[in-house]
Amino acid sequence: MTAGAFRVTLLGTGVPTPSPDRFGPCTLVEAGSQKLLIDAGRGATIRLNQLKLPIGRIDVQLLTHYHSDHTSGVPDLWLTGWLQSHFGRRKPPYRVIGPTGARALIENLERAYALDIKIRIADEKLPPAGIATEVTEFDRDGTVYEQDGVKVIAFEVDHGDVIKPCYGYRFEYGGRVVVFSADTRYNQNVIKYGAGADLLVHEVASARPELMQEAYVQRIIGHHTTPREAGRIFAQTKPRIAAFTHIVQLASERVPPPTIEDIVAETRETYDGPLVVGEDLMAFEIGETVVVRRYQAPAAERAGHQSVYS
Ligand SMILES: [Zn+2]
Ligand SMILES: [Zn+2]
Repeated sequence: MTAGAFRVTLLGTGVPTPSPDRFGPCTLVEAGSQKLLIDAGRGATIRLNQLKLPIGRIDVQLLTHYHSDHTSGVPDLWLTGWLQSHFGRRKPPYRVIGPTGARALIENLERAYALDIKIRIADEKLPPAGIATEVTEFDRDGTVYEQDGVKVIAFEVDHGDVIKPCYGYRFEYGGRVVVFSADTRYNQNVIKYGAGADLLVHEVASARPELMQEAYVQRIIGHHTTPREAGRIFAQTKPRIAAFTHIVQLASERVPPPTIEDIVAETRETYDGPLVVGEDLMAFEIGETVVVRRYQAPAAERAGHQSVYS
């Protein structure tokens, strides 16, 4: 990446569903030489490895909230990123910034994996500094990170009455802005902090009308933003590009999930600007224009999907 580049890559666009197509929530933000991750859901290390980006190169792990699908990849990133293979090699401490709760999460992981850490220091002579942690917690809107021209502002969102804390993030770099909603209902704070965004990445949740009567579906939808509501957010924020991630497509044994086309059609009822439905490893280059790139699997990876048995 050339100095000054600003890129967002959706590593995982999924939800708790154990899907091979949409991994757990995780987004990579690269600004100049810095690499920040938002959340670390299931499979985050696999997606980084597909990008050939050593896990140890991540400078900061940001967390939005403590639903397990957003954090279940944290121990993997932390521990695997320390190994001295090409995919790991972290030398400085694992740095975590999140709302209140980050310290408890990390300290308990340190307890859970104490024996592995002790063994690898003694046996593999791994550097203790690379498995150390450095946690910063916050409990209100404001700047949570500022370094070499990269500024990260956290803002509270509304993921439900008892799902607290939960924060979105605004990234400013080189006069460009990326805003990330995190998990939230329709929320004014996204509009406030989303102002002037080149790229606004928002969550979305949808179910077919037949399913909407079910109490559990209403509860889940009540924690998220419907396509129509997301369209209203985009229409008021007017980003250069709006993108969906964390795509909740509810279904039951008798009612199939809404399709991506259904979600787009519903969003179009309230928003007619640029819209992209995120996919794992989709990248956004933010510059004079915002260029969207779908992931092209290298030949070796494609070949890996075919197995010949004899
Ligand atoms: Zn959540
Ligand atoms: Zn979630």
